Amino acid sequence: MSLSVRVRTAVAVVVAGVLLVPAPPATAAPPAEGPPTAGSAATEPARSTLVSPCQLPTPVTGWQHEGPTNYATWLPPSGTVRGIVLFVDFTDAAPVSGERAGRTTMFGAAPNFFTQSSYGALNLQLTFDTAWRHIPQPHTAFAGYNTSFSAQRSYLAAAVAAANSAIDFSLYQIVYVVPPKSAGTFTNSPAWVAAPGGGVTADGVELRHAVTFGQDVDYWGYKILNHETGHLFGLPDLYSYNNSDSIHRAVGGWDVMGLISGASPDLFAWHKWKAGWLADSQIDCRTTTGSAPATLTPLGTTGGTKAVVVHTGGNTAVVVENRQVSTLDVASGCFQAGVLVYRVTTSVFSGGASPGGNVPPIGGPFPVEVVDRTPGSDVASCSTAEKALVNATLTAIGHTVTYGGVTVELTATPGNDRTVSVTVV
Ligand SMILES: [Zn+2]
Repeated sequence: MSLSVRVRTAVAVVVAGVLLVPAPPATAAPPAEGPPTAGSAATEPARSTLVSPCQLPTPVTGWQHEGPTNYATWLPPSGTVRGIVLFVDFTDAAPVSGERAGRTTMFGAAPNFFTQSSYGALNLQLTFDTAWRHIPQPHTAFAGYNTSFSAQRSYLAAAVAAANSAIDFSLYQIVYVVPPKSAGTFTNSPAWVAAPGGGVTADGVELRHAVTFGQDVDYWGYKILNHETGHLFGLPDLYSYNNSDSIHRAVGGWDVMGLISGASPDLFAWHKWKAGWLADSQIDCRTTTGSAPATLTPLGTTGGTKAVVVHTGGNTAVVVENRQVSTLDVASGCFQAGVLVYRVTTSVFSGGASPGGNVPPIGGPFPVEVVDRTPGSDVASCSTAEKALVNATLTAIGHTVTYGGVTVELTATPGNDRTVSVTVV
């Protein structure tokens, strides 16, 4: 089947809400950042041979998912990963003075997010090109860059060609492309992943991982680089590709792969385990019925047990983690520290895309869904996207949630650690 058709259809659902107005108020529905065209990468084989019994099997897919990552396609998120940030202008769109410096300063904050979130396992090194490189075409020639793998590839190839005399691309694993603010064609910022053989060749290497930024970077700020790079590492979107006013209902602001501007953007323990930043020994894996305690160290600190994972069967698990304010979080009434419980599944993919289908289902389910301790209770002072799940956490001894036969009770709060009793029936 045509993978590009699958992607094009998905984007058409989302892009309708993407065209931006300047500086939307904080309470406005955020722009959909758009699904990555990584769906055009080579189809991954189904895999059922797993190291841990709490990992989840992955069906055949070309989308990002919550199962073990196939690094033949996706980029390994460990050690030093080098990215080049290109600035490109066009025959009909030029930058204004200071624009490149402003973008350089903004995106310069992004690597530290990964350093902190990965406990130092990932060192993203960004090199910012020192000049605008000229693409001898109007920017409108690249309309559609966010609707298909091939159109985005054409834009990437033009950017690489424009910069090739000045840049040694053999030094880099990721190419980031930044257009001037006057290039209105570029609205959102999709990631792009090519299977081996499908990339753009320069300086003797094949470039297979890229992000083409749009004007939505002014809304999201530097963390859109973290979100899109997360896609290059194989992480799925946790918001819904169904363009509605509640597209963030699955995880609210609890992971940067959901709401980029959320108050608690550190990556879920599940994602850190998938990325290899947490060892199997830091996951308390449960595969049988019964009740047992666990003491969880805060997600944002190094060491200790980070999560209880209950494999509830098939493609699904329930995860328990301890969220305390970390250097990545925004300390406010919209971050309620406590024990967070969520359901993970590999039965659906990035943004709620369904296996085998070419149209993401409307209304989920989602790769991850937070289990809300206080269903129907919003924190009205928080953003529309976050307010339903801000108070999902277990914050006081005796607080309990039950989901899928798994009951989690907060039983003790020693320092910043949290002790829970997890019962599986
Ligand atoms: Zn995304």
